[in-house]
Amino acid sequence: MFVKIVLKEVSRLKATTNFSISMPDIRLELNRYLSDLKNNKLTKPEACERCKKKGCLVWWSKYTRNLITFAEVFTGIPIKRVRCSACGGTFCSLPDFIIKFCRYGKNVIVFALKQLKRSTYEKAAERLLLKLSQDIEIAVHTLVLWKRKYTLAQLTPA
Ligand SMILES: [Zn+2]
Repeated sequence: MFVKIVLKEVSRLKATTNFSISMPDIRLELNRYLSDLKNNKLTKPEACERCKKKGCLVWWSKYTRNLITFAEVFTGIPIKRVRCSACGGTFCSLPDFIIKFCRYGKNVIVFALKQLKRSTYEKAAERLLLKLSQDIEIAVHTLVLWKRKYTLAQLTPA
């Protein structure tokens, strides 16, 4: 059940809608993260995700991933993994603006959840389409999943 808006129509709407960007995009956070990574200043998670023991994590390997945000699609963001010396488990150490297993930046999900508080799934999908600069359509069922999976309180802790 995709929101059917022809791209031509989207361009027209984008040109005519005064969509103030109310949320900063993640470029600043990303740059800070990349600089910390380069300077070996990243902090490891405190406890192991698997056995919950504290202080047993060592940096392990690295991989890259992509991230869709409002302004652009970032590719090749390096992510470090950690290994627990107690149980042998490995998992990734993600920066705050990335949600595990999610292609979209945290700010996109937060925006979507805020929209869903006051409008329908279809309307929220339409607003996301207008706000995302790359004409990426987010399916209504994706929004349904996000709403089921995440809460604003969990993603934006005070
Ligand atoms: Zn462990």
